Amino acid sequence: MIAGIGCRLWAKRWANGMTAPVITLVGGPTALIEAGGFRLLTDPTFDSPGDYKLPHVTLKKTTGPALSAKEIGPVDAVLVSHDQHSDNFDHSGKTFALQAPRLITTLAGAQRLGGNAQGLAPLQSTELKKPDGLSVRITATPARHGPAGIEPLSGDVIGFVLDFGDGTPSIYVTGDTVWYDGVADVAQRFPAKIVLLFAGSARTRGPFNLTMNTNDAIETAHAFPEATIVPVHTEGWAHFTQNADDLAKSFTALGIGPRLKLLERGVPTTVDPR
Ligand SMILES: [Zn+2]
Repeated sequence: MIAGIGCRLWAKRWANGMTAPVITLVGGPTALIEAGGFRLLTDPTFDSPGDYKLPHVTLKKTTGPALSAKEIGPVDAVLVSHDQHSDNFDHSGKTFALQAPRLITTLAGAQRLGGNAQGLAPLQSTELKKPDGLSVRITATPARHGPAGIEPLSGDVIGFVLDFGDGTPSIYVTGDTVWYDGVADVAQRFPAKIVLLFAGSARTRGPFNLTMNTNDAIETAHAFPEATIVPVHTEGWAHFTQNADDLAKSFTALGIGPRLKLLERGVPTTVDPR
């Protein structure tokens, strides 16, 4: 009874009526965020395992999604950090996103996708509202998809900060980025209580990481001292060189293990802010 994902069975209700966010990892970068009365899906990927030929590399998907697009059901918006890489936006993910009520992505991505896609530049925001008065402000954040100078190779990427009108803890979705001064700036502007951190230390272009490695994740945890760190983008692809276990070992070694919340694929998980 996967349709039950949308129910509030797992959600913790606080005294003021607000519920803790529930996050379900679908696989890779794809996660369903149920918070503040909204259902938001990050970087949709629903294809079966297989190969994707990009101009510079063939990406190999090793694991299918824990939940199908049908099992996810209706969402209020799809948040696409970038549309140009198959590990963040695959064929069936694209079909799903283009049918969603809202699709929010980079300016360049919105131009490529057309249809319902809305582009945001870093620090631009948009709002989703429901008839019952619930609202969420979605602000695009800067992201650098690899070391300094990678931008012409990687193309544009953004992350997202989600600020809920009902006071539900704010969530920062990093998108594909490494730790750099842009993420530090996000921490200064938006002291999020939950960070959905795109990790995995992806490598496709050389001996350097294109997404957060364990060091980057630890830097991010220090920059957001109030946040629970929820890693995604750690499994399901051959070019990921670190996994959730590497993060757990690293956080534990640094004495910050309790700040890490690991998700089990396909299991709706209540994420309590610290
Ligand atoms: Zn990417």
